[in-house]
Amino acid sequence: MTIELFREDGYLKHCTATVVSADSCGVCVDQTVFYPLGGGQPGDTGVLIRETGQQLEILDCCKDRDSGAHLHIVKEGALMPELGERVTLTLNWQRRHRLMRMHSCMHMLCVAVPAPVTGGSISDGSGRLDFDLPHPPGKEDLEQRLNEIIQENHPMTLSWITDQEMQQQPELIRTMSVLPPMGGGKVRLVKFGAADLQPCGGTHVANSAEIGAVRVQSIKNKGKQNRRITIEFAE
Ligand SMILES: [Zn+2]
Repeated sequence: MTIELFREDGYLKHCTATVVSADSCGVCVDQTVFYPLGGGQPGDTGVLIRETGQQLEILDCCKDRDSGAHLHIVKEGALMPELGERVTLTLNWQRRHRLMRMHSCMHMLCVAVPAPVTGGSISDGSGRLDFDLPHPPGKEDLEQRLNEIIQENHPMTLSWITDQEMQQQPELIRTMSVLPPMGGGKVRLVKFGAADLQPCGGTHVANSAEIGAVRVQSIKNKGKQNRRITIEFAE
């Protein structure tokens, strides 16, 4: 199990770590700042710096379901670090910060569209959620409302509850297709001021205003009641 330093602080850009395994697939370490693919958010990219100073590009990060270890995927043919070697992991911070902004924007979209969420995903620069919604909102109205909520300066705070407490408050779960990671004994709740509270394992900005201005790219019908709303950054 890799210690996930980004759970407590999404603004950590690098960390030192000890290599616990390394093969042609990638590198596992004892602790990391790299978010692994999951919950609709892509894995982080960046570099691993060896004791020798040699840099290995990290193309992606994913989590082994069984062991909970994070696999840092490197370019084929890279000179892999040794077991027990002390390395430094550095994020591609510009990309991660855009992902944090867009992921946080999806929380604001949940506020702007008060309907059950049936799915969603984000990529670098855009994000989408599917809503169980008979009548889609108007594009311009939604864009205005969403930007208003973002500009309301909702501060982000984290808290932890037990799995049992989570089960007693199912109304907190907005995304039925992406259930919060349970089974570890505790669930992390993400709160944006008075606007939004839900369990989430992703990475978030410290204040909704940090998301910046956004645009509604499209609202599409995906099935009888399903509306897919895609958001992108305005600049
Ligand atoms: Zn989230």
